Amino acid sequence: MSKRAKKQINRSRVTKLRTKNRSSSQRRVAKGASSKSSIRKKTPRLGKTMYFFGDGKAEGDRTLRDLLGGKGVGLAEMTKAGLPVPPGFTISTKVCAHYYAEGSKSLVAIDSEMNKHLKHLEKASGMEFGSSENPLLVSVRSGSKFSMPGMMDTILNLGLNDASVEGLKDRTGNERFAVDSYRRFIQMFGNVVIGINKEAFEHVLDVVKKKSNMRTDNELNAKALRDVVRRYKQIILKETHQAFPQDPHRQLRMARNAVFSSWMNPRAIEYRRIYNIPDEIGTAVNVQMMVFGNTGNRSATGVGFTRNPATGANEFFGEFLVNAQGEDVVAGIRTPQPIAKLERLMPKAYAQLKKITKRLERHYRDIQDFEFTIQDEQLYMLQTRSGKRTGHAAVVIATDLVAEKRISQKEAVQLVDPESLTQLLAPVFEPHSWNLLPLLARGLPASPGAASGQVVFTAEDAVAWSHLGKPVLLVRKETVPDDIHGMHVAQGVLTATGGMTSHAAVVGRQMGKPSIVGAGDLEIDETKRRITVGNQTLGEGEFMSFDGLTGAIKVGQVQSQPSEVLQVLSGELSPASSDIYQRLERLLKWADRYRRLGVRANADLPDQAHVAKALGAEGIGLCRTEHMFFGKGRIPLVQRMILATNEVDRRKALDELLPFQRDDFYHVFKKMEGHPVTIRLIDPPLHEFLPKREDLMVDIARMESTGQHSKKLETSRTVLRRVEQLHEFNPMLGHRGVRLAITYPEITEMQVRAIIEAACLLAREGLKVVPEIMIPLVSDVRELRHQKRIVERVASETQASYDIRVKYLFGTMIEVPRAALTADQIASESQFFSFGTNDLTQMGYGFSRDDAGRFLQIYQKNNILERDPFQSIDTVGIGELVGIGVERGRRTNPHLKMGICGEHGGDAASVFFFDAIGLDYVSASPYRVPVARLAAAQAALKAG
Ligand code: PEP
Ligand code: MG
Repeated sequence: MSKRAKKQINRSRVTKLRTKNRSSSQRRVAKGASSKSSIRKKTPRLGKTMYFFGDGKAEGDRTLRDLLGGKGVGLAEMTKAGLPVPPGFTISTKVCAHYYAEGSKSLVAIDSEMNKHLKHLEKASGMEFGSSENPLLVSVRSGSKFSMPGMMDTILNLGLNDASVEGLKDRTGNERFAVDSYRRFIQMFGNVVIGINKEAFEHVLDVVKKKSNMRTDNELNAKALRDVVRRYKQIILKETHQAFPQDPHRQLRMARNAVFSSWMNPRAIEYRRIYNIPDEIGTAVNVQMMVFGNTGNRSATGVGFTRNPATGANEFFGEFLVNAQGEDVVAGIRTPQPIAKLERLMPKAYAQLKKITKRLERHYRDIQDFEFTIQDEQLYMLQTRSGKRTGHAAVVIATDLVAEKRISQKEAVQLVDPESLTQLLAPVFEPHSWNLLPLLARGLPASPGAASGQVVFTAEDAVAWSHLGKPVLLVRKETVPDDIHGMHVAQGVLTATGGMTSHAAVVGRQMGKPSIVGAGDLEIDETKRRITVGNQTLGEGEFMSFDGLTGAIKVGQVQSQPSEVLQVLSGELSPASSDIYQRLERLLKWADRYRRLGVRANADLPDQAHVAKALGAEGIGLCRTEHMFFGKGRIPLVQRMILATNEVDRRKALDELLPFQRDDFYHVFKKMEGHPVTIRLIDPPLHEFLPKREDLMVDIARMESTGQHSKKLETSRTVLRRVEQLHEFNPMLGHRGVRLAITYPEITEMQVRAIIEAACLLAREGLKVVPEIMIPLVSDVRELRHQKRIVERVASETQASYDIRVKYLFGTMIEVPRAALTADQIASESQFFSFGTNDLTQMGYGFSRDDAGRFLQIYQKNNILERDPFQSIDTVGIGELVGIGVERGRRTNPHLKMGICGEHGGDAASVFFFDAIGLDYVSASPYRVPVARLAAAQAALKAG
């Protein structure tokens, strides 16, 4: 196996985090913070674990992303660039790994380093931690290498206690603000660190609001808030039998551990599973001086993007809330205002923000997603990172940045997530049916795409209903990170509150899930499971549809139609009238310049071949001939062939089938205009072409009971007898593939004749085609030899009868583990290999392709498998088999052409692997050809 392949495989073997802490509740974390020296003795030295930023200097930079996480790197780099960033320090992911390996108590090892950094922070801020005169307050936030919006925990206002709250009051001259900050802190700390339900705190807030005759939290005065604080502390005492911790250092240790612990909360795990983020990388923790957007009407907090993350348009984009704290914006509780309004309210801060963020975009050479706070009209930057975007926006932004000369074409190719390109091929509504329906309401168009489905109100119902095969729309007042599993399965997500940067919007966009947020006209009663809009009411299970591009919501089910890109491919739209089509073309052409791997498509019919070619496929890597048997008028002939009791009758049926097959091949070859076409001879067991045993039995019983003794009854009885003869206990391991061809060589003869005749006919027309004849399911070289003799004989007979010579290749699939292991022998009879990683995964793991769905999800939940190995290649085991096949095959025949035609050919992560082990091409389903092209280019660029 090549060095590159070995490196790739080893990468997948990274030791897993020990997950024994996963079940530990946050309460355990709180207790575990105290330490014993015996642990200190066992603890290995960690080296540097913290990185300071402040006063224009920072210890970290972008080369340390693995240790500092995305947020830590952003803060360090912004500080170095002289931007207004509150000082702080980042505790590295190394500590997180240590926390999971050794337990929370072992973190005493870093206490002295943390105290040193706190001292530094006190100096930089001019404030003192826990002081009753000039208290330093900090935020404690997670931040992993890959952003996971809202999935982990955050604690704000840490450092407040009964004494420092008075200091804050005196310093700001704002008692209400000081006490409200304390109230928020206890609530967050109680929930996140101690693990008390949010509802307990919400209930107290409601009681005090009622008592004071107030409707919103904002109306509560300082006295009422002091009452809230007192009651909150009582909750904590009651739940933990301990008073709310007053020592800020202890608060910080507990909060830090809770943030580490949130790395393993179920929603974060689920998020990582969906986005293939490894558990091992862990999170960093950022401790940063607090700045406040809630000191009054001269303060605000907000989030934004340097470009529109839904459409990619080059416009300053974002939202803010006046007199609010950071979490209020993303939580979607209050609907924020568009950022343009900030220009009127705080023109100086707005202009500075715009200038800074554009500078950041130029620095990072990518769209930035930023967080800011304005405290008394003074702007502070709290975060910058690459913005999540839709597939559509990704292509627009990458091509625009090239046009603006901000990045090179090579960088543009690396800027777009290959998987996101599938969104450009997703369907849109069929306009006529859509326009017929009246508008129900409008919301903010958060993530484009047509969504139609039955309304459900909880993430759990979305999952349960979709398991029953029902299309669902998840409708919520607002989504929370815990809804991730429901969002994942829904056709679309619709919320009544929240802005374009609320949780539903950000996550929906990233998933490429059609989403509308902030549809304020929708009154959603999640308990009664109904939506009211004016005098119209809709219940659970009723159909709704919405367009995530325009924000329009309608009642009823609407058919969808191909996306704009697909309409261009089918000729309904001209390329010139589709901006996105042109941009996609441009991007993929750039990608083609860098990739080493060829990209083909799996296509059986001329129209599929057309789409594949239009999307850039350079050939067909797998034409499953049996699919042609299901074409119009063929099945009775196929059945006659199967029912034949002797070779003569079987040949007669095959002779009638031949012109159909020849025609099919002729059209596919013609469509591909001389590009290579790999044709696989018959693969499935024969009973798949006959009616089901149960259906036949019912038919026969019905005919018998009505006294019908017709010819039809006799035929059905004959078919039933044959079906019973063909019955197998394990059809996938049974009489299929080459085994079938060895039993009935006349099937191979007919298929080869049809292939060569089609090639001869086209040769007469002047089109040169080189068919690649492929034998499936081979496990022993002698099987292949047997078939080769037939193929060679029939091919030369056919050419002689046409008096034309055509070139063809003879090869095999490698899809049985034994074939991979004996590839050196098999290569002696082959001109090419095509790895069938679907069957190779099935037989390598011993997981049935048809039944594994039932337990694979459970495997993933239990961290036994990270990804479904039928979707993304298992590089360690199945990939090793492919690697062995490549190496042994080439040992015998250095010119052997090698590709892969399993589903993995269209999976970006797998394409990286296939590039690394030196395959010549991947073959993907037609709609995934763009993904494969871009992934292949990125793989080649990464490999250097
Ligand atoms: C395979 O096994 O990977 C393959 C492409 O063949 P099929 O999916 O038709 O079994
Ligand atoms: Mg197969």
